[in-house]
Amino acid sequence: MGMVMVKCPQTGHAISTGIKTDRESFRRSTVFFSRTPCPFCRADHAWFAGDAWVDEPSIRVRRRRSAGSPA
Ligand SMILES: [Zn+2]
Repeated sequence: MGMVMVKCPQTGHAISTGIKTDRESFRRSTVFFSRTPCPFCRADHAWFAGDAWVDEPSIRVRRRRSAGSPA
């Protein structure tokens, strides 16, 4: 599960939409449309699923445990 993120068209910042989903079900909802209040420019941004992405913590984790450790 991850948070659906969109990019603010004014500032370029990533905004959390407050919607939690996983990437598979998000990809299936191709007609997804919503509005998100932007904390950066204080406007409501309308966005489509094509503008959004799912920020899953699991894909941010980088495995560097094996680096430098002897076998
Ligand atoms: Zn904005």
